[in-house]
Amino acid sequence: MQRLLIWTLATLIWPLAVHSSDGTPHWDYEGAEGPEHWGALADEFDMCSRGRNQSPIDLVADIDTALPEVNFEYAQAGQLVEVNTGHAIQENVKPGNHVSFRGHRFELQQFHFHSPSEHTVGGEHYPMEVHLVHKNEAGELLVVGVLFKEGERNKLMDQLPSFRAARGEDPRADAVDYNDLFPARDRYFLYNGSLTTPPCSEGVRWVVMQQPVTASPDQIQHYHDLLGFDNNRPIQPRNARIVLD
Ligand SMILES: [Zn+2]
Repeated sequence: MQRLLIWTLATLIWPLAVHSSDGTPHWDYEGAEGPEHWGALADEFDMCSRGRNQSPIDLVADIDTALPEVNFEYAQAGQLVEVNTGHAIQENVKPGNHVSFRGHRFELQQFHFHSPSEHTVGGEHYPMEVHLVHKNEAGELLVVGVLFKEGERNKLMDQLPSFRAARGEDPRADAVDYNDLFPARDRYFLYNGSLTTPPCSEGVRWVVMQQPVTASPDQIQHYHDLLGFDNNRPIQPRNARIVLD
C-alpha cells in the first residue's frame, strides 16, 4: 500500500515540474537544472543524456578532404529584433538570407551568442562564439558557428541593438549586413551534431568556421554582462563521429 502511495504521488508530482511561460520545462547552465541534469528534467529532453551525436565537441580535423561547398547568400541586410531568451542574447532576423549546402537551401532564422565558446579547437576555448541558425523547408537545421578571439573591434557587433542603445542611439536605426560578421569563409569544420540546448535534438549539420573573428574585450564583456552568466554547454563525447575540414 505504501509503495503504491509513493508511486501515485510520484506520478502526480511529475507533471508539476517547473515549466516556463512557453511550456518548455525550465533548465539552467548550473546547479540542479544544469547540463548534467538536462536529460532528467523532462521526457522531451531525453536526448540530452541518451544522444550519441551531441554538441558541442572538441574540433580536431580527422580528414583533410574536399568539403561540400557552403554558399553564403546573405543578400538581405535588415533590422534586428534583439531578445534575451534567458539562455542567450539572440538577434532575430527578417527573411531573405540563405546558405546553400548539398542542394538544400537553408534560411537564416536568428543568431545568438555563447560566452565562452561552446566548441573548442584542440582543447582550447575561445572567449565567445556566435551561432547562425538556418532551417530548410523540411525543418532541418544547419548551424554556422563563428569563434571570436580578443582583438580589434567587431564592426557588426557595434551595429547590434544593445550596442547602439548603450551609446544612446536609436537601437533600430540602420539595417545590418550579416556579411560583416565573418569575412573569411574558405575553411571550416563540418560534422553532425545536435542543438546545444534542451531538447538537444540531433540531425543538426554543424559548420564551424576555422578562421576566428575578432572583437574587443569590452565588446565580449558587454554580451556576457547582458546575460549575466556563462552559457556554454560542456564538451560532449565524439563517439563514432568524424570531423571534416
Ligand atoms: Zn547556440
